[in-house]
Amino acid sequence: MKISKSLICTIGIMILIFGGAVIAKESAGYEVTYEGTPVGFVEQPSEVLDNMDPITIALSEEIRMQAAVTAEQFGFEKKYKVFRTKDGWQDVAAETGGKCRVDVNVYECRVDDKTVVRTNDIDRAEEAVQKITEDYEAANPEAHYERIGFAENLVFSVSRGKPVEEVPAEEMEQALRENLTVETVERQIEQTAIPYEVLYEETETRPLGEQSVKVNGVEGARVTETVIVRHDGEEVSRNKSETVLSAPVNEVILVGTYAESIPWDGEEFMNPVSGTLTSKMGWRWGRIHKGIDIGAPMGEPVYASKGGVVIAAGYNEGGYGNMVEIDHLDGSMTLYAHLSAISVEEGQEVLAGELVGLVGSTGRSTGPHLHFEVIIDGAIADPLDYVRY
Ligand SMILES: [Zn+2]
Repeated sequence: MKISKSLICTIGIMILIFGGAVIAKESAGYEVTYEGTPVGFVEQPSEVLDNMDPITIALSEEIRMQAAVTAEQFGFEKKYKVFRTKDGWQDVAAETGGKCRVDVNVYECRVDDKTVVRTNDIDRAEEAVQKITEDYEAANPEAHYERIGFAENLVFSVSRGKPVEEVPAEEMEQALRENLTVETVERQIEQTAIPYEVLYEETETRPLGEQSVKVNGVEGARVTETVIVRHDGEEVSRNKSETVLSAPVNEVILVGTYAESIPWDGEEFMNPVSGTLTSKMGWRWGRIHKGIDIGAPMGEPVYASKGGVVIAAGYNEGGYGNMVEIDHLDGSMTLYAHLSAISVEEGQEVLAGELVGLVGSTGRSTGPHLHFEVIIDGAIADPLDYVRY
């Protein structure tokens, strides 16, 4: 059997070529670097580039900081590595975390554009800031703040960079305290009464000096709101505003001005008119004069001598002319005659001193005067026992 040497040779060469090709193919891949440091060997760059988010998460867990790596920081170079297995993105993440100082989130606490704190842990900075306001509130337990903050402009910003050297919490807090002013806003609301005024109104229908309430006074109410701003406890502004909830109602008191010259004790009969006695009660021209006559100018006011109910008010044909009769409901009655005008009606209740009419000369009369009678328990009485002229 004659086997061609050249055939064997050819087969051998072919095996070498194919085998070599297979080995070459299996050992081809991409060396991965993070900022120049080799961190893996992958089949394709997409193994890393398509998994940036899971890589970032895995990295963050490994370094216990918020990693902030970017696709641009990874490099890829095609290489042949015989007997080197390919890495997955998990291996690349683990290797990067273990070998490199990767970029992380760097938080800056700026007070009026001045960087006061740098940290990779935002919670630490926020806790330090919060501690300042909490301590302030604890030191002022009596105050009720509507708002507590800082007078300065406090800003947190985030950027990407290498991990910073963390300072202890107390040191961070101290740096913030030195640069911050605690600003508090307090709102005080107070309701106060608005006093009413007392006005006096004179009236001729009441005895001199007698006072009675016409309108009861009612206090008003106002709300005062005060907003106080303090910096580290020092007051820097105070704004007051007022709102009237209800206006006060002024009290009106009636003051009697009637008959300044006529004495009246307030309980007994008072003089019904200002004038002079011209005729007493008694026999006159052959018949009895049932009352007294008081001379007074035409139109002079005539007042009820005592409080009661008007039982007659009108013209009397018997000689009295315009006449008013009042029942004082205690057994006594009074009568006022020859009036030029009547200012009350039958059935009307009147107070002592209330205007009942005006002096006149109606009926059987020779000139303006008031004819005044007093009747006690149905019998005529001498008015001069009750009034003084
Ligand atoms: Zn008379």
